Formats: sequence, structure tokens, C-alpha cells
Amino acid sequence: MRIIVQKFGGTSLSSPERREMSASRILAAIGEGYSPVVVVSAMGRAGDPYATDTLLGIVREISSEMDPRETDLLVSCGEIISSVVMAATLRDKGLAPRVLTGGQAGIITDGVYTDARIIRVEPSLILRWLRDGTTVIVAGFQGLAESGDVTTLGRGGSDITATALGAALDAELVEIYTDVDGIKTADPRLVPDARTIEVLAYDEICQMAHEGAKVIHPRAVEIAMQRRVPLRIKCTFTETPGTLVTYSVEGTQAWPDARQVMPVTGVTHIMGVAQVAMTGEAQEGAPGDLGFFRHLADAGISVDMINVTGALRAFIIRDDLAERAARVLKDQGYQAKIDRRLTKVSVVGYGMRGIPGVMAAVVEALGYAGVEILQTADSHVTISCLVREGDAEVAVQALHAKFGLGKREV
Ligand code: ADP
Ligand code: ASP
Ligand code: MG
Repeated sequence: MRIIVQKFGGTSLSSPERREMSASRILAAIGEGYSPVVVVSAMGRAGDPYATDTLLGIVREISSEMDPRETDLLVSCGEIISSVVMAATLRDKGLAPRVLTGGQAGIITDGVYTDARIIRVEPSLILRWLRDGTTVIVAGFQGLAESGDVTTLGRGGSDITATALGAALDAELVEIYTDVDGIKTADPRLVPDARTIEVLAYDEICQMAHEGAKVIHPRAVEIAMQRRVPLRIKCTFTETPGTLVTYSVEGTQAWPDARQVMPVTGVTHIMGVAQVAMTGEAQEGAPGDLGFFRHLADAGISVDMINVTGALRAFIIRDDLAERAARVLKDQGYQAKIDRRLTKVSVVGYGMRGIPGVMAAVVEALGYAGVEILQTADSHVTISCLVREGDAEVAVQALHAKFGLGKREV
């Protein structure tokens, strides 16, 4: 049996016409001899009737503090509705598909509401239906904890369902269908001339996804990488080949063109972050006390771009957690300045290792564009700058141009 996992994002399912196009991808796979396992997201984006954000909005109208267990019950319905609608679309084409919730598909999680990790997949039911020649449709983004509770995998989590099933079923290929034709050198919403990357190594896309390239969830790539599941990101609406994610780009056709000359593969951004800068002396312990990291962790607030140098203690958090962080720090006797509505902009590229001048080029590009850099961080394959939200678009465009990532003449 040649198993393929095909995952369709919300925009690929948001109208009857789009569902038809998604269905034609499934029929094509069957025509090529594959046994498809279809993973679906909730239909549409915020504002569409059964989209995840719309479902969340129903309860947020009543109270901003939602019960996490009930939140998961609520939002898991979006993917279940979507799978039933997709099944009806396929039935109309003469197929007799079988719909499974995440739990029925054997996705077992650690039980952390709204951000669960998959601890194992028990694929026996899926395999039984596939052996019968039945196309299986699985509601993405959800699983079942050992307690029997429904849990969801975090925003964008249907990608994780897809690669986890791909690994468990030993699939020949996992296809992620979305509204852009692959992984691009930057978010095309900010950079219209962003180029589609033909071939990308797992670790590089993983890094881009961690730094905000929303087109695929970083944990989905990690699973595919660990289990060596071939992954292709494609557009539902065009016939372009998309991006193949594989172990190594070296030796493929894309290598000489894409790598030798390019220290930077892509520019990514994460909006909605806030910078916390500690001011004054810590109340707990001696001056220089770093105990606030523990208090923030206990409040479920994760930190990034951590900068502890001399008297400076600065880091970033999710902007929607800024009020909670301010409360926690104040209660513990710390003084902090919180600067909100910022964006983390990063250049990512395995080609930058050991290459001098990348930081210089970043600083020059942003300086020339009039963008103030509020903080920086780097790893051997990324350089990140914190900028104001109003500067984000210009910053991404300036870096994209500086590193020559735009569409090239053929
Ligand atoms: P889906 O609903 O199909 O899961 P998402 O909204 O999660 O789709 O991801 C697709 C979106 O990711 C695109 O519409 C695009 O705006 C955004 N995006 C951000 N960075 C990138 C990138 N580097 N390449 C392609 N798309 C990107
Ligand atoms: N519907 C979920 C979300 O909007 C999961 C997904 O789309 O991948 O986050
Ligand atoms: Mg997504």
C-alpha cells in the first residue's frame, strides 16, 4: 500500500469551489495509485462561520478568561465539521470516505489543553480502512489525552497531525496544501516579489518556521525530520510544484543556484511581541537577582531574545501576555518597563555560517530604511532584530532586497 497524507488548510476548504479543488487533489492521488489519508483544518479564517477564531470568539464575547478544557472541546468542533463537509464533497464524486476525529484516528496526547504534544499514534483503525480501499479523512489539530479528554495541538496544529500520521503510517509522502505555492523567501503578504524555494532542508525550514514562517508548524517539520518523512508544501489552487522539504539540499538541482551565493535563505517575522526590560533593583535576593525568570515560567509565560549583560536584563514575550507578565513581576516586587506592539524580524540561512558581514548587512539595510533596531539576537543560522510593529513591513522588505532574495530573471 502506498500511503500519502494530504493536509488541507483552512483557506483550501473555505468555499464549495475551493473544496472542489482540494477534492481534485485527492482524486489525483488515488489516480496515481496512492491510498490517501486526508487531514483537514477548520474551514476558512477569522470571520468565517466555523473557523477556529470564530469559534473562540463565541465564548470570548462572554468572558476573556476561557476554561482551557472547554476551549479545546469547542475548537476541536471546527475540524470535525470540516471533515464531514469534505467527506460530503468526496461522496459527491463517488467515493465512500470514512471520517475520524483525532482521537478515533489514534492520536494520543500528553493532555496539556490548548497546546498538547502527541505522545503516540495508534494507527490501527486508519490502516484497517485504508486496507479496505477507503479514503480516510482525519480532523486535524486534535487528539485525545489518556484521561479521555479532547486536547488540541496549538494554533496551526493540523500540520502536526499530518506529519505525525505520515510518520506513524510510514507514508511515502506528506503534502501540505495551502494558499501560497510553497515556502517563500518571505511572507508574500509583506513582500509581493518573494520567491518560492524549490528544495529546502528540514532543519532550515524548521528554523524558518520557529522564526515565524507560518506556512508550516515547526513541530510538524521536527516530526517529519526525525522520522525522515518526505514533505511537500503546495498550493491547492495552482499547478506549481511547491517546495520539497528533504534531508539535504546538497547534490540536488537547487543546490548550486540557491546556496553557493546565498548566505540568507529567507526573511521571517513574528508580530505581536512585547519587550520586557527590567528596571531598578530586584527585591528578592541580591541586586542582579534573576529569579523573575522562574516567576514568569510558573505563570506560563515563555521568554525569547534573552539579553542578560551587566545590569541589562531584557527579553521578549507574547504581546497578549504582557498584562499577565506585568502583574506577576509587580506582585513579586520587580520593576519592569514593557514596550508593546513590536515585531521580531529574522534573517535565516545555513549559508551564513562563518560568513563575515551578515550582521553588517542587516544593520545597513535597516538603517537605510530608517528602521530602529530595539534589540538583537543571533544563532549560527539566524540574526533577529526587534523592531516596532509599524516598521515591520519595511524592515522585512529591506532585508529581503539587501540579501537579493527577490524573483530573479530566468
Ligand atoms: P493554512 O490555513 O493553509 O494552514 P496558514 O495561514 O497557516 O495556512 O499559512 C499560510 C500563510 O503563511 C500564507 O498565506 C502566508 O501569508 C504565510 N507565510 C508566512 N511566511 C511565509 C513564507 N516564508 N512562505 C510562504 N508563506 C508564508
Ligand atoms: N484550525 C486550527 C488553527 O486555526 C489548526 C490549523 O489550522 O492548523 O489554528
Ligand atoms: Mg497553518
